Amino acid sequence: MFGLENQPYIMFKNSLEFAKKCDASDELASFRNKFHIPKNTAGEELVYLCGNSLGLQPKATSDYIQQELKDWANLGVEGHTEGKNPWLPYHEFLTENMAKIVGAKPSEVVIMNGLTSNLHLMMVSFYQPTSSKYKIVIESDAFPSDKYAMESQLKFHGYNPSEGLILWKPRKGEELCRLEDLEDIMKKNGDEIALLMIGSTNYYSGQSFPLKKITELGHRYNCKVGFDLAHGAGNIQPNLHETGPDFAVWCTYKYLNSGPGSLGGCFVHERHENNKELKRFVGWWGHNKQTRFNMRHKFDVLVGAEGWQLSNPPILSMAAIRASLDTFTEAGFDNLRAKAIKLTGFLEFLVDDLHDDRINIITPRNPEERGCQLSIQVKSADKSLHTQLTEAGVISDWREPDVIRIAPAPLYNSFEDVYHFAERLKKVLN
Ligand SMILES: *Cc1c(COP(=O)(O)O)cnc(C)c1O
Repeated sequence: MFGLENQPYIMFKNSLEFAKKCDASDELASFRNKFHIPKNTAGEELVYLCGNSLGLQPKATSDYIQQELKDWANLGVEGHTEGKNPWLPYHEFLTENMAKIVGAKPSEVVIMNGLTSNLHLMMVSFYQPTSSKYKIVIESDAFPSDKYAMESQLKFHGYNPSEGLILWKPRKGEELCRLEDLEDIMKKNGDEIALLMIGSTNYYSGQSFPLKKITELGHRYNCKVGFDLAHGAGNIQPNLHETGPDFAVWCTYKYLNSGPGSLGGCFVHERHENNKELKRFVGWWGHNKQTRFNMRHKFDVLVGAEGWQLSNPPILSMAAIRASLDTFTEAGFDNLRAKAIKLTGFLEFLVDDLHDDRINIITPRNPEERGCQLSIQVKSADKSLHTQLTEAGVISDWREPDVIRIAPAPLYNSFEDVYHFAERLKKVLN
């Protein structure tokens, strides 16, 4: 699909000179200057490979937020309608660019709440268990919050989580989930399953799942299908409209660089947009915009994803998302993805070139089955390895018992970053 076999760049070389050459010919290289790169106490830039956990701050973010602070200072409540970017429709300024990033129609996307809150709201609508069809399938190494949310939903509906939650597990001795095992689960238990809720790109292994096949599989058994794109949005292209899940949720502070705890995204497929019978929890921000402030009307739900909004949103956080989306849009998602494949490929090449028997890359080797991240298992290592890497100026992420997660982000990471990481890992391992 990406025509990797025809790309000259897969002739990687293990040298600083080669890394610099790649940076020099990288059309996105200048985007690094649009970000604040964290520095050590001596003022030297750190090797930041942790954009899968918290993306870096675009330099533009401050101006976007200052604009809203200024309007608030000068206009007070009038900022809702008279501000340079009026606050009443502010979330609409984000919709189109966010829809492009997840491959959806604008009416299918809304920015609101946090990821886990959105997951619960989506389950109110799309997890409608009956006494015979109530089970939920999730991947076994799902992010803890997702698992807690599923368990609490099962309990809320009166089911026992240990019986109602089916885990899609890697086989013994393997780290990755196989689609045929999910097919097996559906064959055996499809009649009892109400919902497939899968992380599009697994936070631990870095494995990207075949979203379209999973959606078709779930729908074939009359199940609802939802994806958590926390590690997918801004990383892989999930093409949500075409892929066809019932819903998806994600956060914007990882690959989307919108700041700690920033608002989440939510997708509801067009096929549900006019269904007023769908159960949901509602609030005034999901009400018809023309009559929202009359306050006397019966609830009149908005068409599309906007109808799930509850509250008037935090504008300062939305301003940060706007700054980030403008940077993403300027770079172009396809360009970013093409660079990410090369950058992560270079990382893989350098790690393999260490020829260290303790190292095992868990993440799939096929670029179509992964995003930016490589999860590098270092057998018999403990957290001191991570501490040493940090002391050597590498910001990475450690997962117990023995995995370092490294995620070069194509917007601001360079080939030189990746080269320095590999050199420092080698030093620390020796
Ligand atoms: C980061 C992440 C979360 C975090 O949830 P919040 O509600 O944003 O705190 C949840 N799920 C997954 C898969 C994640 O990667």
